[in-house]
Order: sequence, then structure tokens, then C-alpha cells
Amino acid sequence: MRILLIEDEPSLGQAVREHVAATGHAVDHVLRLDDARAALRGVDYGLILLDLHLPDGLGLDLLKSLRNAGDRRPVIIMTARDQIRDRIEGLNAGADDYLVKPFDLDELAARVAAVARRASGNPGPIIRLGQIEIDQSGRELRRDGRRIDITGREWAVLDQLLSRRNRIVTKEQIEEALYPFGAEIESNTIEVHVSRLRKKLGKTFIETVRGVGYRLGET
Ligand code: CA
Repeated sequence: MRILLIEDEPSLGQAVREHVAATGHAVDHVLRLDDARAALRGVDYGLILLDLHLPDGLGLDLLKSLRNAGDRRPVIIMTARDQIRDRIEGLNAGADDYLVKPFDLDELAARVAAVARRASGNPGPIIRLGQIEIDQSGRELRRDGRRIDITGREWAVLDQLLSRRNRIVTKEQIEEALYPFGAEIESNTIEVHVSRLRKKLGKTFIETVRGVGYRLGET
């Protein structure tokens, strides 16, 4: 999932970016609302992490303008403990969740995973596809009951395919979800991840739609 992080405190922003990126998501970090608006115009983000006090305005104003425009993308707001009023206002304005600073990075990652699950239309954490069992909350895979290890990037590819199950997902859509702005991507990176997933999950698990992309069916 591609995530937009809007946070003007550099050290917190960097810590959040690194932690969430390590779980397989691509994070674009901006420090200002105008940069956030520009990024939102260009990229189909799956989630927005929003600080409320930014150098050029209030995060709540961005949230309200998104919701007024009919934009339902999940938003998690990050607030200081003394801003309870903002928090309530944020939830009323259409935020999906909130975290109180300072927050535990693992808790943040768990909330991000929960939002990703809801957005993919699979609120129940366990999905079964043929012999494969996918536990989305624990990020665990089992094949015929045996646990399979996959990397954060492989998980992110699988997550993209799961969120658009039975539909074709293009290589570009996967790249956009996995890599932030400015990342160097080798031309065959996605193919490599897909081929490793097939080795682990079975040859027919991911279907190639020649010249278009990939599809996860009812294996
Ligand atoms: Ca701030």
C-alpha cells in the first residue's frame, strides 16, 4: 500500500517512515500541507497519516476538504495528548482512527494493517485460497498448514493482489504501491517478487495476464 505521511517534526516523521516502510508499505513523507495536496493530486494513496499542526495550516482543514470532495481514503490522525478537542473534531470530520503522540511504532503499524484490511474489503484477518491460509493481522502465511516465510516486499505485492482480488493488477499499480517517490526500481523487480511468491505459494497461485499484469483468482 502506498501511504502519504504528513508530519512536520523531522525525527518523528523519519521514524514513522522507516518503521512503516519496513512492514512493506511505500511511504512518501511531506512536511507541509501544500506538498501534501500536490502529492495527493498525483498518487492514489491507500492511506494518509496526518499530523494536525503543520507549518502552513491545519491538518483538519485538509481532512475536511478531502471529505467534502467525496474522497473516502482512510486517514489516521496523529495528535498530541493535549489536543483532545482536535481529536474529537478529527473523528467527526471523517478520520478513520487516531494515535496520541508519543505513540508506539508497533501500535501504529498494527493500526495501519487494520486500515489496510478494511480498505481491501477483508475485515476478517484470515483468508483461505485453496491450500493457502493468509492471516493478515499476524502477516502469516500457511500452505497445507505449514508456515511460509515471506519478505516485507513480497507481502506488499501479495497485499496489492488481495485488495483487488479477481481483477487484473498492473505492474505499474504494484510499483506505485510499493515504492515512494524517488526510489530506484529495477525494471524486473515486480517479476522477481511474483516469481518468488509463486515458488512459495504454488505455480498457479498468481496468474499472469500477458502484457497487462497479474491476477489472484479463486485458486
Ligand atoms: Ca506538527
